[in-house]
Amino acid sequence: MAKTKVYFGSIQQGRDALFASLGAKMDKIIEKLDFSTIEEKDKVAIKMHLGFQDGYQTVPVFFVRRVVKAVKEAGGWPFITDNPTSVYNAADRGYTAETCGCPIIPVAGVKDGYTKSVKVDFANVEDLDLGGVMHDADALIDLTHAKGHGACCYGGAIKNLALGAYSGPSRWQKIHGVIYAVPFWDADKCTPEHAEKLVKSCPYNALRYDKEKHKMGFVMFNCRNSLCMECLKVDKDVGSFQVLPETFSSFQEMMAVATKQVLDTFDKNKCFYLNFALQITPHCDCMGLCQPIIVPEIGLIASHDIVAVDMATLDLIAQEGLIEQAIPPYFKHTNLDPKAKLHPFQRIWGEMKDPYLVIDYAEKYGLGKRDYELVEVLSPEKTGKMKPPKHVYEQQPSFY
Ligand code: SF4
Repeated sequence: MAKTKVYFGSIQQGRDALFASLGAKMDKIIEKLDFSTIEEKDKVAIKMHLGFQDGYQTVPVFFVRRVVKAVKEAGGWPFITDNPTSVYNAADRGYTAETCGCPIIPVAGVKDGYTKSVKVDFANVEDLDLGGVMHDADALIDLTHAKGHGACCYGGAIKNLALGAYSGPSRWQKIHGVIYAVPFWDADKCTPEHAEKLVKSCPYNALRYDKEKHKMGFVMFNCRNSLCMECLKVDKDVGSFQVLPETFSSFQEMMAVATKQVLDTFDKNKCFYLNFALQITPHCDCMGLCQPIIVPEIGLIASHDIVAVDMATLDLIAQEGLIEQAIPPYFKHTNLDPKAKLHPFQRIWGEMKDPYLVIDYAEKYGLGKRDYELVEVLSPEKTGKMKPPKHVYEQQPSFY
């Protein structure tokens, strides 16, 4: 069977010329993706994460404008969508209707209550509230900043929809809450005093104990699992607590399930996926922070297949590896042993947060295929052989 084409535009360039720069590669990739399936007046949702507070390391407006322009040229009516808070303060990070070239609309309305219930029946999740604005759209451009993520180690095209297309309560309580379907704590074995010891043992504040209810909460996002395991040392003689791979994999499977519900509302031929593997940070964009860049700049990766685009992005990140000196000191445990067969994100987030798991589950639910053929556009080899034009410097107001 033919492999899915994944188009790649590298940050590297064969010449210091516009035709070799990322803007030109973006245009070439859009041409290859071919927006001609977008019909006249189709409402085209461009799903982005617009960041929070100081978290400006998202997809640059420069590229957003190019996507918006191409959608308009294809006859579509584009709009950008994300959660209401990110939309409301998007201007702080440079995203406005004027700068992007199209309206910016909250995915589930201004009060996060315009939703469409979708049946899920997975683990402890019966249904989810899909953003009504996403549901109303005729075509989808999943425009994603590829980066690390506390809950699942990698945030890419799948995660951008799995969480970002839903209302806040579905996102935070139901999708993140799926981990509670896997028992990890035995309340009968654990006294309140021991529970407090467990909480204290965790260097990452991943355990929250409610004494009144005698309930243990687990903040999967913070847990470094295989790299740490301090809690298990304290629990050795009690045996009330477990750090289980199933806890982490349940979230990865939930993401595939939630993404399927989003994609099922669209014509497959009207879905496009673009990952920006630039400014790759350890945490996700929800953190609202400016963060160190921990992987060398890679470029743009795009496909018609959501699984292939994330697979290729993960592989390219693995190829580059971590910029070790850039890893923030609050990642107290990291595994930098070159012999350890770990993805760069697993080296900082722990082995149980396996970024390829979501690929397995997405394939299982029929979202796409992991086998891809990487097609590089305007490669440095190619642009290096192209004739350079006369470079024009801005010496006077020329408005070229
Ligand atoms: S393994 Fe996770 S929960 Fe246990 S101490 Fe480490 S970070 Fe905390």
